[in-house]
Amino acid sequence: MIPVRDDLRALEGYHSAQVDVRVRLNTNESPEPPPVAFRDALAAEVSRIDWHRYPDRAATELRAAIGELHGVDPAHVFAANGSNEVLQSVLLAYAGPGRTVATFEPTYQMHAQIARVTCSTVVEGERADDFTLDPGEVERVMAQAAPHVVFLTSPNNPTGLVEPRERVDQLLDLAPGLVVVDEAYAQFAEWTALDLVDDSRPLVVTRTFSKTWSMAGARLGYLIGPTWLVAELDKVVLPYHLDTMKQIAGRLALRYTDDMNARVDHVVSERARIVDVLGRLPVDVFPSGANFVLFRPTTMPGRAVWQGLVDRSVLVRDCSSWPRLTDCLRVTIGTPDENAAFLGALADVLAEPAAAAPADSITGRGR
Ligand code: PMP
Repeated sequence: MIPVRDDLRALEGYHSAQVDVRVRLNTNESPEPPPVAFRDALAAEVSRIDWHRYPDRAATELRAAIGELHGVDPAHVFAANGSNEVLQSVLLAYAGPGRTVATFEPTYQMHAQIARVTCSTVVEGERADDFTLDPGEVERVMAQAAPHVVFLTSPNNPTGLVEPRERVDQLLDLAPGLVVVDEAYAQFAEWTALDLVDDSRPLVVTRTFSKTWSMAGARLGYLIGPTWLVAELDKVVLPYHLDTMKQIAGRLALRYTDDMNARVDHVVSERARIVDVLGRLPVDVFPSGANFVLFRPTTMPGRAVWQGLVDRSVLVRDCSSWPRLTDCLRVTIGTPDENAAFLGALADVLAEPAAAAPADSITGRGR
């Protein structure tokens, strides 16, 4: 064995416990597969790929289709392998050694993780106990850390909270560097920062095909940002990073916007049902604008509830040991049957605390 980079030794990877269960509601995927017509169209186009040729390096058609979806020129669009790679590319270009990245915790852990891997200094601002973000805290972090990049996740993961537009405006006013609004879940919420993007502001909005487009298996995400920023990202991304098949899949998926909207409506109404039932159980529920709900059992430790759900073949995300999220669990909105199974199992677990198994009876750990 040879030693890994000194600064990576203390870092852990980002994992979700993989447990063999019937109902998996732990990774915020779409509960529905893409439309059958999409799969047929994809199969037909894939059969015509020139496999011996490299892909279109500029992903011209895919970026044109994304641009059309959002009413912007393709020069504002950068696509990569999942929005995680989009975030990584942004940090490679605008953060790094000697530069500072700010987050407001708790939030999506990969922002700080990727920032650390790129050797950036990470400064963590704090949210209030109800996970809202106080304007005074934004002011403090901007003044003290003067970050080169600041992240805001809206709706936030894992809390589900939608940031008010004033918070983005405030950041644009005060941030000395780039503002990244991570909108992985924005289709489930009421507003988007996309309208604020243009060449006059250092703002990017990131999106993913993993949730509403039912394409987590494809790994595709993108950002809408100023043209001058998109041009710089070319310098950090690997040549031909987006394979031909993925470019086709992304372009074709956007033809099924109506199906996507129908799936979003479905998830949003199921979310309301879940929140309603949770409201009658001994748990605190945090308001969500995403395809998941964060809750905190009030009569039992979160870890014991998580284990009780696993014992009933339902897997949710165990956030109970994460900083600032003591006892919290996060459930992804699934199909009506999956949601019913979750709610039934949860009511059962909470009614019989003694039935919950000891916390260490499974392998793997959630983060
Ligand atoms: N941002 C947020 C806030 C997320 O929750 C996720 C997925 N968990 C991502 C980005 C990454 O999504 P993907 O890489 O699948 O596009």
